[in-house]
Amino acid sequence: MELLKQRIRQDGTVKGNDVLKVDSFLNHQIDVALLEEIGREFQRRFADCGVNKILTIEASGIGIACITAQSFHCPVVFAKKSQTKNIAGEVYTTRVESFTHGKVYDVIVSKKFLGPGDNVLIIDDFLANGAALDGLIDLVEQSGAKLAGAGVVIEKAFQPGGDRIRARGVKVEALARVKSMSEETGVEFAD
Ligand code: 5GP
Repeated sequence: MELLKQRIRQDGTVKGNDVLKVDSFLNHQIDVALLEEIGREFQRRFADCGVNKILTIEASGIGIACITAQSFHCPVVFAKKSQTKNIAGEVYTTRVESFTHGKVYDVIVSKKFLGPGDNVLIIDDFLANGAALDGLIDLVEQSGAKLAGAGVVIEKAFQPGGDRIRARGVKVEALARVKSMSEETGVEFAD
């Protein structure tokens, strides 16, 4: 998606070797007009997949998922990072290691909001090692829902998550794929 790549070139900043900061337009301050374009692009890429629910993870995925859902005319469910245990069995639970914080979180989704009748599109801001997507796919599998695929705004293609999850047979669409990046030279895209 050319508009997104231009914006990353213009406003993205690279920290160390593997963190791309896009907080001036994507995940802290949000450019809503850009998100609308992103939502429409996800809709084009998953148009024939029969999506009836969007699943994301708090916090950065929520805004992107909500605007994308306007194009699909479907609800959004977000997996919550939880402190409380699943005593009553009313939630699906999985564990996700956060790429940016290095912590492991329990994440939950209520069984009320995901089940065998759903055909789920997973949406997130970044794909790096794939832990967040693995966790969300696990929740979909536990629920008996169908997985239509996963859409990520930015894939860091030099990290292993994208190849590994595509090899599992999941349709993964990334709107910008970063081939390499450094503080000195900035970002280079894969395609
Ligand atoms: P993964 O689980 O694929 O390793 O990492 C994906 C998650 O980590 C995303 O939900 C995103 O919030 C965060 N993340 C991974 N890499 C980056 C990055 O380069 N920049 C930012 N801002 N977040 C990232």
